[in-house]
Amino acid sequence: MSEERTPFSIALETLNEGMNLRRLEGRADEIDLPEDDGEVLGPIVLEGRFIRSHTNVEVQGRLAVRLRQRCVRCLAELEAVLEPEIRVYCKRRRDREGATAEGDAPEEGLVYYDGRVLDLGGEIRETLLLEIPGHPLCRPHCKGLCPRCGNDRNLGDCACPPQGTAGPWEALRSILEDDRPRQDGERGEG
Ligand SMILES: [Zn+2]
Ligand SMILES: [Zn+2]
Repeated sequence: MSEERTPFSIALETLNEGMNLRRLEGRADEIDLPEDDGEVLGPIVLEGRFIRSHTNVEVQGRLAVRLRQRCVRCLAELEAVLEPEIRVYCKRRRDREGATAEGDAPEEGLVYYDGRVLDLGGEIRETLLLEIPGHPLCRPHCKGLCPRCGNDRNLGDCACPPQGTAGPWEALRSILEDDRPRQDGERGEG
């Protein structure tokens, strides 16, 4: 992991024993969040309770991210606000060495820090990676684009014959049939 601290860092000495309310914000690139699946618009915001007990800090918070994606079928632009909850326990690293030796597998939501500054950037990144849709759709049954003319099939049918078939009769039949609800489910491959 990088030695650089993210904007989601907080010094232990700035937290009182007990409950503290804090708001932190940073950019997607500052926590190495890949933007292949969507573009983050504006800051990533963490708001929550930082509950300190000596060197242990429990964070109960909520993230807020505005995300722009494209429907994978019709390429329509989608904007959504994701607000996943996040819960992190921060412990001083030294406490781990003295305690159990049950392997090095990091527990989920558990962050070890140097006893001075806790950095939630990694946990925020993991939380957002789980939350960002990997296969965004503008609606559950988006019909996508016509591969011939590029018409958005959600807005209506084009005059192109259905893919894989040719001839005016097939096209005419599909036009007639599309006016009635189909009962036999989806047709074709894909
Ligand atoms: Zn769509
Ligand atoms: Zn078409």
